[in-house]
Amino acid sequence: MAKFATIILAVLYGLAMYRFSAWRMGRQLDRNSTELADPALKLLVGRMAETLDLPAVRVQIFEIEQINGLAAPDGRIFITRGFIRKYRAGEVSSDELASVIAHELGHVALGHSRRRMIVFTGQNAFRTALILALGRFLPFPPVLRWLSGHLVNLLTSLFTAKLSRNDEFEADAYAAALLVKAGIGTEPQTSLLRKLDSLSQAGSQTSPAWFLSHPSANRRIQAIEKLAGRWDEGRGRG
Ligand SMILES: [Zn+2]
Repeated sequence: MAKFATIILAVLYGLAMYRFSAWRMGRQLDRNSTELADPALKLLVGRMAETLDLPAVRVQIFEIEQINGLAAPDGRIFITRGFIRKYRAGEVSSDELASVIAHELGHVALGHSRRRMIVFTGQNAFRTALILALGRFLPFPPVLRWLSGHLVNLLTSLFTAKLSRNDEFEADAYAAALLVKAGIGTEPQTSLLRKLDSLSQAGSQTSPAWFLSHPSANRRIQAIEKLAGRWDEGRGRG
């Protein structure tokens, strides 16, 4: 009974932690962001909104130097100042930035943020339950207890990494479909993935966050091209 209560507590703790970090992130975004004002980008965002039957899609610039795009837990979309700088310098095209916005729209539309909350909470409860179960069967000396804690952490983080990679492929597929329907096409999506690596190297300190938190660019390009190929075929037949 006490163990059950411990697991319930772990679930509640996980939920509270997630809520708190989402709130803190939202506040940080509020304080450090401005409305996207670039006419060419706004035009493309408007075209995507129209395709989605939405009155508007709100995109903001997050004032940090990293090259990143993100979907906040509250559903807002942000492009970092670092990314906008690359655009202004002509290293990234407006279509390519639109593909990042489409990808983040995918995360929002597919409910990835909420799923992350569930996974985060579940992960916490699972970890607690496993440690409790292990402790019951083996009266662990502290060193083994410490080791098993790390093993459980490793297992849960591998599981989460797998889930978040799946989210990325799903968001890419959503973006590909949206970009095709909006008349932008998947070409900017794959061309951006091809150059992301060198973009971040050129800026030395600007770490390629968008790139690192995602599966390998090559695998993403392959998946997008496979989809685009299938759609082309379908159109040929129809
Ligand atoms: Zn993503």
